[in-house]
Amino acid sequence: GPLAPIPDDLTIPQFFFDTHHPLGSEALHERPSAWFIDDTTGREITSDQLRARIWGLANAMHIRWNFGNDDVVCIFGPNHVDYYNRLHLLTAYVLNILGIMTGANPTYTVDELVYQLKTARASALFVHPDSLPVGLAAAHKAGIPDDHVAVFDIAGKDYVGLLTLGALVMEGLVQPQSWLEPRLKPGEGKTKLALLFFSSGTTGRAKAVMIPHHSVIANVIQMKQHVNRHDANKPTAHKMYAPGDRMLGVVPFYHIYGLVACMHFFPFIGGTVVIVPKFKFDDMLRSIIRFKIDALPLVPPMAVLLCKHPLTRQYDLSCIKITIIGAAPVSAELTHHLSRVLPNSRIGQGYGMTETCTTFGFQHPFMHVGTPGSAGVMLPGTALRILKADGSWGGYNEPGQLIMTGPSMSTGYYNDPQATAETYRDGWIYSGDEGYVNEQKELFIIDRIKELIKVRGFQGLCYSYDVFPGPASADIRHDVRTVAPAELEGLLLNHPDVVDVCVVGAPDSYSGELPFAFVTLNEAMRVRVAKDLAEAQHIREVIMKYVAENTTQYKWLAGVEFVDSVPKNPSGKLLRRLLRDKLRELMKEG
Ligand code: AMP
Repeated sequence: GPLAPIPDDLTIPQFFFDTHHPLGSEALHERPSAWFIDDTTGREITSDQLRARIWGLANAMHIRWNFGNDDVVCIFGPNHVDYYNRLHLLTAYVLNILGIMTGANPTYTVDELVYQLKTARASALFVHPDSLPVGLAAAHKAGIPDDHVAVFDIAGKDYVGLLTLGALVMEGLVQPQSWLEPRLKPGEGKTKLALLFFSSGTTGRAKAVMIPHHSVIANVIQMKQHVNRHDANKPTAHKMYAPGDRMLGVVPFYHIYGLVACMHFFPFIGGTVVIVPKFKFDDMLRSIIRFKIDALPLVPPMAVLLCKHPLTRQYDLSCIKITIIGAAPVSAELTHHLSRVLPNSRIGQGYGMTETCTTFGFQHPFMHVGTPGSAGVMLPGTALRILKADGSWGGYNEPGQLIMTGPSMSTGYYNDPQATAETYRDGWIYSGDEGYVNEQKELFIIDRIKELIKVRGFQGLCYSYDVFPGPASADIRHDVRTVAPAELEGLLLNHPDVVDVCVVGAPDSYSGELPFAFVTLNEAMRVRVAKDLAEAQHIREVIMKYVAENTTQYKWLAGVEFVDSVPKNPSGKLLRRLLRDKLRELMKEG
């Protein structure tokens, strides 16, 4: 469908705070309701408070650090009510001195964070106190001095003499203004970077996706327009969303889904986000009741929990009127099951990639529930091509690789021209996902052609769908994580007994997929393993332990199989598909 004009001369905060965009349901910065509520303390944050803090931090950062154009700041920590605050502080800093923000996964090990800091060329780190030991060690290794590390100030936490965000804001507020707000030229918003978010792309290690201001603004407007098509002329009770609605912010904000679809889109349509810092299933159920949550954005493992866990039955979840599941495959079966658990809720899917700057397909606006299993319909302003396996273009109902374009597309991988050339071609993004579109223009995702593995698990405690319930009140994480096989392969090749390796995704009924390694051992080990089954098992465990000791939990191996050689094509490229098929055969044989 046609798309409303998207401003290309505004930064993200200018768009959110300073304009009355015709698509905005109300003047955002004048509305009375809170933008955010802290789930734990009940603390409310209004746009005025946000704006004051933004100004203060921008001023202090400029005075203290004299950050210049395109400097990069990393935020490392779990969801927190001040994350948004800080994000806006940081994007306000972007507004004032045009820097860039990158968000890091709080479960990272030191080396994983160092990789992100170095790849994104970050020169300052904002860190949650719980993540401080890893954050500081990584900052040292990446060459970020202690005086460029600032801690989220949380009562009762120790900051070991470091700067705090609160102190920076106060410092900035009492000092005279040190900067002039730059204005973008027309069109500049399409190239001026705001975010570097990490994705594995179609191959290799994680890469920093370059997301300009215009991409975030565009996706928010596209989503709003999509929703407007549904809500026009409907009474409030039948609208998909209404001003004053409350969304539960449980998906992580360092991922593009949490950042754009929750933190930006929802306040834009006049809603309030209730921010959940740490996911505990029983607390989530209580928060839904306590805050009368209307909108629930989920990833598949959370949906499974809601369906399978006996605790769900003890709560009246009838307040929820819309549930969106995204970021990984969602079966029709799961959608059906969930619609029984949430009787008043529409249940829809969202589909997108970090590279498309969030949502490309979103639940059908004109159906109560789209065709079960569908990943929604394409947002206004987007276009899609289907590249069939024989190299020709596909029509309706013909499967092939999804190749996408639209106003929210990112512009490439930071400092990685080779990977950029593989995925970004002539204004189109080659998704590495296989799917098709039916005549109702609904999108279906069939498989992933690219090599990345999506683990949807609880910090690696990956329960099978059938053996639920797990520990509802345990301190578990709940999101979908991406594992780049190349990263684990690089690590495994450093093991003295391993001469070659290929990592693939092993299907798992609960976790979706888990990493699995095909390993070629050195000659001496191969002889030992061939002679003795117990020895083979021991070596498997040694290899799995080695990965566990060196990576965060969701990257841990589900299993190891020994092979004489790893299949490769003549140019040396791993033939992953062959080993994925072999694994499926092995699993069938039990
Ligand atoms: P990320 O960049 O981490 O958001 O990962 C993007 C990838 O997640 C896509 O290319 C798909 O492989 C997968 N994905 C996202 N949403 C869906 C969905 N609704 N169904 C199936 N796969 C999905």
